[in-house]
Amino acid sequence: MKHDIKRIVGLTVLAVMVIAAVVMGVRVARLVDLTYVEMNTTPTPEPPVRNVMQVTIDPNAPTPQPVLRSGSQGEEVWQLQTRLRELGYYNSSIDGQFGPGTKNAVIAFQRQHGLDADGIVGEGTKAVLYSDQAQLKATPAPTALPTAVPEVIPVWVRSDGLPLLVNRENHMPQGYQPGELVNMADYCPSNIVKIKYSSTQAERVAVDALIAMLKVAHTQGITVWQVSAAYRSESYQQQLFDQQVDEYIDKNGLSYNDAVSATRLTVMEPGSSEHHTGLAFDITVPGVSFKGTEQAEWLADNCWDYGFIIRYSADKEDVTGILAEPWHIRYVGLEHSLPMRDENLCLEEYIAKYGSY
Ligand SMILES: [Zn+2]
Repeated sequence: MKHDIKRIVGLTVLAVMVIAAVVMGVRVARLVDLTYVEMNTTPTPEPPVRNVMQVTIDPNAPTPQPVLRSGSQGEEVWQLQTRLRELGYYNSSIDGQFGPGTKNAVIAFQRQHGLDADGIVGEGTKAVLYSDQAQLKATPAPTALPTAVPEVIPVWVRSDGLPLLVNRENHMPQGYQPGELVNMADYCPSNIVKIKYSSTQAERVAVDALIAMLKVAHTQGITVWQVSAAYRSESYQQQLFDQQVDEYIDKNGLSYNDAVSATRLTVMEPGSSEHHTGLAFDITVPGVSFKGTEQAEWLADNCWDYGFIIRYSADKEDVTGILAEPWHIRYVGLEHSLPMRDENLCLEEYIAKYGSY
């Protein structure tokens, strides 16, 4: 009997151990299996579903509008131009063609509304443009009247608050010294603008404005810019003038008086060049004639927004007495460049209208 009991207990223990072993084995096998399955089926992330709203069919939803950009044309562009003109951003003809004028108007609108200023009318810009959030184009604050508060008046600002006028009749003030000249090759980022001559200098305030302007041009894809002239002292201008006079005498056999007259047509007389101010730049594109380039077009459209003017434009030749120079820009400050643009006044006309001496 005792033997039997021992055998039963022994068999039972054995059986329990066998069952336990089998169960454990299966579990381990399943775990291994599961790991294997998981390792092989880790899902690759699916691209997020963009704009779930599009899937919902709303019978009242407007049909999706195409993005408008340079080169677009048709009814939508016509509507866009009409709206931009209504708000004061666009002054050119409403022709349904998305050209540079339309693009600049869009950029001005985007800038004023804190939108990405890329000149492309996508959903975001369109939403603001046709909403009541759309603001009229900001007009420049009126020129501040001279106040009693002492302030540092830049050397190039006249006592009546207007920018210095320099031309054949109005020479530089005696002993004029520019405020703060910087060496442009050292000062300007070389990826923004190339300085043709390493010794070129100009007034810091004008150079700062130039850099700010050309940085924006770069973001709009207009990238190749060069400065081929800026500040010139009167003595240097005298040297240029005398060289040309000598050349006419030596090579063309002119009398001194005739040589001086001929030289006056192409070289500014010392004292009458805007380059003496340190506020004028000749902007060029290396290796090409500047007139008609996309840079010239961009400059004519945008320089005003950075305090510059196109000093000698084709439609003012009879006032300035200088043939159009699309490359010559002059810094006058924003408070003057914007009204000059808006009223289409060259510096001579602006001073005649608003100057008090
Ligand atoms: Zn010039």
